[in-house]
Amino acid sequence: MAKYNRIVLKVSGEALAGDNGFGINPPVITDVAKEIKAVHDLGIQIAVVCGGGNMWRGQTGAELGMERAQADYMGMLATVMNGLALQDSLESIGVPTRVQTSIEMRQIAEPYIRRKAVRHLEKGRVVIFAAGTGNPYFSTDTTAALRAAEINADAILMGKNGVDGVYSADPAKDDTAVKFESLSHLDVITKGLKIMDTTASSLSMDNDIPLVVFNLNEPGNIKRVVLGEQVGTTIEG
Ligand code: UDP
Repeated sequence: MAKYNRIVLKVSGEALAGDNGFGINPPVITDVAKEIKAVHDLGIQIAVVCGGGNMWRGQTGAELGMERAQADYMGMLATVMNGLALQDSLESIGVPTRVQTSIEMRQIAEPYIRRKAVRHLEKGRVVIFAAGTGNPYFSTDTTAALRAAEINADAILMGKNGVDGVYSADPAKDDTAVKFESLSHLDVITKGLKIMDTTASSLSMDNDIPLVVFNLNEPGNIKRVVLGEQVGTTIEG
């Protein structure tokens, strides 16, 4: 029996870029798609929220003098490119999918409709949520928390690039850093742990949604988390 039967998987833009850290890397996306397929084959309902940081971040544009909202809309468009790339990979290995965007672009994806998303999940389709929340000043982490609450997901799975959980400090810079096995959402906020932005953390806390942070690069990890093995860091309560 699985621990989580309906999940929101947050895939950051970085996780789709591979070693070059930028752009879309199809072989890397295929690896992510295979990991998703392994969980889909268990009958788990999977929604994916794609980030866009491998192409563009609104914050960067603002730092370079752009209007923040304009730069954020560009970031949301980046998430759509990632979503379409992931859709392509999943479909090529036989996983049925639908992409839903928070900003309408009907020729390439469905608009986000909550009830329709849930229906797709029930029918065994992987639903890819793209274009973030549709609002500037938000992040795709917040999108994951929001959509998880809306579709009554059992957990948010946050796959990180090479990092296997939440540490007290950056393990690459500080060898006294220790890994947490579990934390509360409030711990994350009060300790200032940089897992997700505080909007996303408080939304997860208020709606009592567990969050599991784990290494997406370790094969089989999504499956392990879904089946309830201790992987990475679990944040709940
Ligand atoms: N973004 C936004 N509103 C949202 C979600 C995303 O404006 O609801 C923009 C924002 O500019 C952000 C960019 O899209 O920098 C890419 O998303 P994010 O940084 O969350 O991607 P990730 O870090 O997960 O790759």
